[in-house]
Amino acid sequence: MYGNIITIGDAAGQCNPLGGEGIRHALTAGRMCAKVCDKYIEKGASDTDILFSYNKFWKSYIKRKWKTSYELAELAYNNMSDVNADRIVRFCKRMPKRAIVDVLFYYRFFGIGGMVGLAKRFGKAI
Ligand SMILES: Cc1cc2nc3c(=O)[nH]c(=O)nc-3n(C[C@H](O)[C@H](O)[C@H](O)COP(=O)(O)OP(=O)(O)OC[C@H]3O[C@@H](n4cnc5c(N)ncnc54)[C@H](O)[C@@H]3O)c2cc1C
Repeated sequence: MYGNIITIGDAAGQCNPLGGEGIRHALTAGRMCAKVCDKYIEKGASDTDILFSYNKFWKSYIKRKWKTSYELAELAYNNMSDVNADRIVRFCKRMPKRAIVDVLFYYRFFGIGGMVGLAKRFGKAI
């Protein structure tokens, strides 16, 4: 948000950092944005606090999961070399497809214990 301008979708960085899925989130943000704009206009378009409630809605939608997804994306994609790309592909080949979809798109990171297990499996896979 900037003043009374709300950005949504890719312009607001609302693409899932790890899986790159952006359409669903852009649509969700669009619906949230439309709701607060409706209310803002209904109340005379002067109370910008109403617009700020969009931030609250968005934060409660992404929760902590999005941050974890971002941190994992940084680990996976930053300074990606051919060797590391091959390692990730080898690792993913050993994971059940359902688990990959869960991590990439549903933010099911299996808790801290699960992440340690995942890291160990990654170590074994490379
Ligand atoms: C290769 C690729 C594959 C992807 N695959 C998936 C996928 O499988 N599933 C998924 O959920 N997401 C996927 N995404 C991400 C998804 O495409 C985006 O997150 C989503 O389209 C964002 O929607 P948006 O409306 O914010 O932006 P966009 O869809 O980019 O829409 C922005 C629009 O604004 C227009 N525009 C830009 N500047 C101006 C201007 N100055 N004046 C007027 N118009 C302007 C652009 O032409 C564009 O039409 C993929 C992205 C890429 C690049």
